[in-house]
Amino acid sequence: MNRQERVSSLAQELFDLYEQHKFPHISSRRFNPAQLEEWLNALASRGGFALSPVGSSAEGRSVSLLTVGNGTPAAFLWSQMHGDEPTATMALLDILHFIAREPSHPIVSAVTSQLKILILPMLNPDGAERFTRRTAQKIDMNRDALTLRTPEGRLLKSLREQYNPEFGFNLHDQDPRFSVGTTRNVAAISLLAPAIDPERNDNNVRARAKLVASLFAEAMQGFIPNNLTRYDETFEPRAFGDNIQKWGTSTVLVESGGWPNDPEKMYLRKLNFVGLLISLHGIATGNYTKANPRLYEQLPLNEERFFDLIVRNVSLICGPRVSPIVVDVGINFDDKPDPSLKERDIPAKVMDIGDLSTFGAFEEIDGSGCQIHSSHLVLEENRPKGDLLALFE
Ligand SMILES: [Zn+2]
Repeated sequence: MNRQERVSSLAQELFDLYEQHKFPHISSRRFNPAQLEEWLNALASRGGFALSPVGSSAEGRSVSLLTVGNGTPAAFLWSQMHGDEPTATMALLDILHFIAREPSHPIVSAVTSQLKILILPMLNPDGAERFTRRTAQKIDMNRDALTLRTPEGRLLKSLREQYNPEFGFNLHDQDPRFSVGTTRNVAAISLLAPAIDPERNDNNVRARAKLVASLFAEAMQGFIPNNLTRYDETFEPRAFGDNIQKWGTSTVLVESGGWPNDPEKMYLRKLNFVGLLISLHGIATGNYTKANPRLYEQLPLNEERFFDLIVRNVSLICGPRVSPIVVDVGINFDDKPDPSLKERDIPAKVMDIGDLSTFGAFEEIDGSGCQIHSSHLVLEENRPKGDLLALFE
């Protein structure tokens, strides 16, 4: 088996054992900090992991750090800096559960004997409580790396300084409706080795991050070969990923995007489990250094060419002076609806009307039997899903 086949076969093994070993008590992406704390306590005592409160949020919620393994180097994984981005948090629980259950599995034992893994599953508990991006102080923490006005941002920076980890994983969810370059495929996972300057130069730290990102990408080839992208590499001087890279920790941003018929993002959670463990294993064994950085560099970029629904070939009427025209209608649904809403009351919006032949969607329907007056299609105005879809019946 050559190196690449070995990576693929390890990734497949993790993918196959996932259902048996995942953390079983979580089936929705909406969970609160108190639930998470309970789960972390149970996992820590089962796996013998060190769990300690390392700080608190603006509203006084505790932020916890788990330490797994006794080796060097250190790999620091932080998730839910944005409170409504919990996909990787779920995967971190899966990883902890797998490590606790199968300590002698070769992947687990390599990782726990060679690395010190620092896991901060929920950096923004106040935002998570409300399922919002921002902190209780209404700040986007990922623009607070320089001014450090938020207690959560200060905590992240101080932990990096305290442990000086060689590797970092900055774990997020992106808009579920990015396409892979100019294709009609949805971006399921997006990777980035954040830039350290506006010219996007490489130093040793960033070059190492690109190798880890390439290994992650390699691990995804068997599952989402056409749904993997590179995140926008523009240097953001205020962001944590860019600064942590600059401060000397080789950092990979992992963004979970979208997947058809998976609003709770359970498939993407599973892919995070596979990709993160393969990356950690590659760091533990040193094999990440043999990854081909071009694999990362050649990933297509995220593009905004994707909707939740496209109704194709609708006949659009607009007054007596022009004949009806045939158009596609791109529609998005609220992807964080109030859980108490009925399906038909979920807010929906018409995002675009016209030639959407270059756009993809989670669902496409043929509207060639429908005639709609253009006054009924108001762009970017929220209305109940049931009412909007009734227009196309
Ligand atoms: Zn985010």
